[in-house]
Amino acid sequence: MSTLPTQAENSAIEIDAVRQVVRQSWGYDSFRPLQQEAIECVLAGRDSVVVLPTGGGKSLCFQAPACCLEGLAVVVSPLISLMKDQVDSLRTNGIAAAFFNSSLTPRERNDVIEAIRSDSLKLLYLAPESLLTENVLSLLAGVKISMFAIDEAHCISSWGHDFRPEYRGLRTLKQRFPNVAVHTYTATATERVRHDIATELALDQPAMLVGSFDRPNLNYRIQRRNRGMDQMLEVIERHHGESGIVYCISRKEVEKTAAALNALGHSAVAYHAGLSDTDRIKNQEAFLEERIDIVVATVAFGMGIDKSNVRFVIHTGMPKSLEAYQQESGRAGRDGLEADCCLFFGGGDFGTWKRLMAYSGEVTEAALESLQAIDRFCNSTRCRHKSLVEHFGQTLDQQECQACDICLDQVEQVDDPLIVAQKILSCVIRLEQMYGADYTAQVLAGSNDQRILEKRHDQLSTHGILGEYPKGAIRDWIEQLISQDCAQKIGEYNQLQVTELGWQVLRGEHTPTLLKPASKSSDKKSQRSQSVDPASWEGVDRPLFESLRDLRREIATEQGVPAYIVFGDAALRDMARRRPSTQDDFLQVQGVGQKKCEDYAEPFLSCINDYCTTNSLPTDVTPTALPSTPTKPRRPAKTASAVAAFPYFKEGKTVAQVAEEMGRAESTVYGYLDIFLRHEQITDPSPWIDEATATRIRQAIEAVGNEKLKPIFEHLDSEVPYHQIRIVAACLANAE
Ligand code: ADP
Repeated sequence: MSTLPTQAENSAIEIDAVRQVVRQSWGYDSFRPLQQEAIECVLAGRDSVVVLPTGGGKSLCFQAPACCLEGLAVVVSPLISLMKDQVDSLRTNGIAAAFFNSSLTPRERNDVIEAIRSDSLKLLYLAPESLLTENVLSLLAGVKISMFAIDEAHCISSWGHDFRPEYRGLRTLKQRFPNVAVHTYTATATERVRHDIATELALDQPAMLVGSFDRPNLNYRIQRRNRGMDQMLEVIERHHGESGIVYCISRKEVEKTAAALNALGHSAVAYHAGLSDTDRIKNQEAFLEERIDIVVATVAFGMGIDKSNVRFVIHTGMPKSLEAYQQESGRAGRDGLEADCCLFFGGGDFGTWKRLMAYSGEVTEAALESLQAIDRFCNSTRCRHKSLVEHFGQTLDQQECQACDICLDQVEQVDDPLIVAQKILSCVIRLEQMYGADYTAQVLAGSNDQRILEKRHDQLSTHGILGEYPKGAIRDWIEQLISQDCAQKIGEYNQLQVTELGWQVLRGEHTPTLLKPASKSSDKKSQRSQSVDPASWEGVDRPLFESLRDLRREIATEQGVPAYIVFGDAALRDMARRRPSTQDDFLQVQGVGQKKCEDYAEPFLSCINDYCTTNSLPTDVTPTALPSTPTKPRRPAKTASAVAAFPYFKEGKTVAQVAEEMGRAESTVYGYLDIFLRHEQITDPSPWIDEATATRIRQAIEAVGNEKLKPIFEHLDSEVPYHQIRIVAACLANAE
């Protein structure tokens, strides 16, 4: 019988070795979803296409096994700035890595070549154009290569959003190095791009590993822009002293916003393609080293920014596609800790993008489709997490995410959506489906604009039929109807047309969801209620955290590296939670590996010790309730306001009474009640709903299941409001 280990035994041993390296060098106790599978492919030498969202931890998938395997891992990366950060980060973890590009001096290049020849490097980063030179290819042919890792692999596909022709040349790798596996990594999810990566690189039956595109730690909030800078300032003030990005559509707006923020005492810099290279680099470094908190930027900023602790991303206007939004908002919370993504859109944004695209010659059918998709998303009343994930061809199981404006119920529904929708759609019909949304809203609002009078549309029965509402609200409802497929925009002038579903609305067979116009005060209230998730701060001493941040900043500036490369926010929080006093205890902190312990234990332990002595605090606290490493990104937990409502519910108060006590809208309190029911595992809905209605809902659930609310609502002939269905559904689920 053979004594050789089987392939399975072999990879089991090796994955343990990688686990140990991850613990020792990175200070992480567990893998994130799909990391183990991706690493196993590397260990087995099987080509792979790994798709994980931004912040999913793609780098570790090749960096960690590269440390265990014999030979040099060659990493292809498109951007010089990204390479430098990755290499700096590896070196601070004690791993021998280098990059090879045009920014090196001849002497530095020789040093790297020497290191490659003497097998003293584990990872080498290069851009494709450097790798594909004959000199470099021959150099690599003379040493042992453990793997090729191709980062941002979507750049190879003309269907990706960032096609780079030079990536196509990478096909030669399989010809020149037929025995070396090629592993590819991207955050772009579409099937077409994945397929392109595999065929363009001639991969050999690659493993396709596609992670979930949901980013549960991101709290999405999409609102109409209606209070100038106030909406943005509320978010910034909530995150005072933390890092954030503000995206604007135009350069002019970037400059204006950055100046205004500075005038208000926030530390912000501008970043756009109109600045000189020197200014851009200077501003980017100030952000990375945490000498300033906020970057106000156009889309030019971000590619190649790995900063893990961006706590908020604000869009002051609509981005140009959902892909762009996913990527830009995705720069928040890469460390898996909670972060806010707030988008404030305006009616004119669609047109602004069209103009900008026309100016740069980018108006294609695909670009317009993408613009329409993000426009629908902004106006939609569906869960933001679900909408985004579905756009990328995946599904999300949870009924509610508890991390977006829709699910947290901070948006209120109009009382009679069917009637309002019927009035709007009738007006579209009366206008013979030949006018756009703005004009239709004007007619519904009863405007006597000259154009309306000339066309005699003031004579229509639908003229002024929604006159009691502001025109902006009517305009929003039209967009909401479009996002729910009750109407569509067609032709060059975006004329409104009633769809099949819209006709069902007109016949009273289908009720869409329409949101109440946000009043200024209620808007403010809902914003305030979203304080930063307290749960992830559990046990963290905030002032100590701030002192540690200051220390991190000083060290980063001294060493000229981004602050997060010294330690991520998760590590600082864990330090401020555990308050270690010895090197051994310091090693227990998440994100502290052997090398970082050697390099940084002294200043950080001394800072912790000073703080604990001054404040008479115990050191070496063992957090019992919290896992030392969050294995799964967490959703922002229940909001503080929801928790504040719990005692009222426990007293058996009705929703109306709680709303009164707390000064909140009833619809918001229904959201709190839902959180309460789940949190306390309540099984009896009787304090909040009468027995007859509860029985009807139970019967409907028996008939159509508890999976989704809409079929239950429809089974009940749209007679029972969603919030009542939710109560019974939650109680039934708790009883299971
Ligand atoms: P991506 O390239 O997929 O956008 P990164 O590789 O930059 O993501 O990882 C994002 C952050 O998550 C980094 O700060 C990284 O160190 C951290 N990280 C990666 N894997 C783990 C893990 N298993 N446990 C804890 N943190 C991790």
